[in-house]
Amino acid sequence: MESSDHPGADTVYERARRVMPNISLGTVYRNLKQLSETGKIREIRLSGGGNRYDKTLEVHAHFHCKACGKVTDVETGSVTAPAETGKLETVDIMFGGVCKDCLQTEKTVGRAEEKQ
Ligand SMILES: [Zn+2]
Ligand SMILES: [Zn+2]
Repeated sequence: MESSDHPGADTVYERARRVMPNISLGTVYRNLKQLSETGKIREIRLSGGGNRYDKTLEVHAHFHCKACGKVTDVETGSVTAPAETGKLETVDIMFGGVCKDCLQTEKTVGRAEEKQ
């Protein structure tokens, strides 16, 4: 809950193990599923497969870096749908591309490294 990035289940597992060495990956998955189902955290599905988890519940967009896999928050202001659409409950906006850090690395190293 304290992480401000958007960790995947494996990252959450690694972090949880530091405080609870005996925790299993299955327990982590179950807890993440329960937390997202009860609306405590938000589950983000990546187009390339895999899920990330987000503690920020307010409407915001995401940027997924295809080079390093990082997911960062994007300020979009308010997002609205036409009223005739129905009752809007969730907004899922995912931008894709190469993040600033990776662009910088690309410039200095000369090529982007495939880290996935
Ligand atoms: Zn990146
Ligand atoms: Zn987010």
